[in-house]
Amino acid sequence: MNNFTDELRRHNLKATPQRLAISSALHNYGHINIDKLYEMMLSKFSSISLATIYKNINLMLENSYIQEVKIPQNKTVYELTKSSHSHLVCVDCKSVEDVSVDVDEIVNKLNLDDTFLISKADLVISGVCKNCN
Ligand SMILES: [Zn+2]
Ligand SMILES: [Zn+2]
Repeated sequence: MNNFTDELRRHNLKATPQRLAISSALHNYGHINIDKLYEMMLSKFSSISLATIYKNINLMLENSYIQEVKIPQNKTVYELTKSSHSHLVCVDCKSVEDVSVDVDEIVNKLNLDDTFLISKADLVISGVCKNCN
């Protein structure tokens, strides 16, 4: 069992049972969208609402405890914050995989100087995964 209580506190978040459950769901399955997360949470907290989950997710995002991955033409997925990486997304089954490409390196190569002020860079590579190919 990971010590999510400490991790949450390190991000200035109180370790509520809901947040601990969200943490282990993201740790075990990674890259899950809000619907899937809601489904998983309902099996543990039968009266939890989608709004409560959104509230927790937004707070966890604000405190950088988790990060979101925007998937083209699909729902945003969430994962626990880890070192900089990019994503491979399968256009058939919508599975999301980590791939170790440091986007910061690519951004540095762009040499934009002051022509464009970058606030955030994400790289999502679409394709067909091994299972679907
Ligand atoms: Zn696939
Ligand atoms: Zn990831």
